[in-house]
Amino acid sequence: MGKEEPFQSELLAEDILFFPGHANTVALKLEQKAIIIDVGRNIHEARKIRNTVETNFKTTVDTVILTHFHSDHTHSLPLYSDCEIIASRLVEKFLIGAKRKNLKVPKAAFEREYIVEDGSFKVTVKQTGGHTPDSCYVFSPKHKLLMAGDNLRTDFLWGGRQSNPEEWISALQEYITFDVDYIIPGHGKIMTKEEVSAIAQYTIELQDFIRQLLKEGTKENEIVARVNTEKPPRKTPVYIHESTLIKWYKFWKKF
Ligand SMILES: [Zn+2]
Repeated sequence: MGKEEPFQSELLAEDILFFPGHANTVALKLEQKAIIIDVGRNIHEARKIRNTVETNFKTTVDTVILTHFHSDHTHSLPLYSDCEIIASRLVEKFLIGAKRKNLKVPKAAFEREYIVEDGSFKVTVKQTGGHTPDSCYVFSPKHKLLMAGDNLRTDFLWGGRQSNPEEWISALQEYITFDVDYIIPGHGKIMTKEEVSAIAQYTIELQDFIRQLLKEGTKENEIVARVNTEKPPRKTPVYIHESTLIKWYKFWKKF
């Protein structure tokens, strides 16, 4: 755990609150419901977030959506024990397996996709995989907002143990089809569609380059050097983390 970041909140619209932190949190006001997406790792900060949301939206938070299991996004879950927790079956399985104290497991665990409906609002939660097999996005057409979890970060692409580059690339391609004004990554600043397109393009070029290296019989210990010296062109400061590059290489090596 790093040091605590100063608490920040941004009212993006009257029904959208953004909390940039170690990992980002977003709150949406629907017709009646107030939703929090990802709850962060620090319970003191999470308490401030919940208070700010309830003061601004003049209602209690009743729904929590989790983009994936990693503790920097879920550790403060005990603060929301009175809420409906929406997460994929995989997130549920990982949460149960983690045996954390005071943890409430999701009430609404879903297989691939879940829709939160409230009046004219329809918020889609979809498991795409990518960063991790349980990675989901949350898309609210009415708020024109996409929360992408850790499939998007503003620093680098970083995949967990079972990350899947093909699912990741499809998810990025799906993001750019959405009509959105706000694209929230798991970590870092709000992104534009152009930035996400540039990341998607970079990942596709990486994929082609890694496959080409495999065809040439490149050894695993040379891959990082080759990508560093002959890196695919990128119009984005986001780059692939070395550990993830090796994971992607191993992924395509299997075929
Ligand atoms: Zn994270």
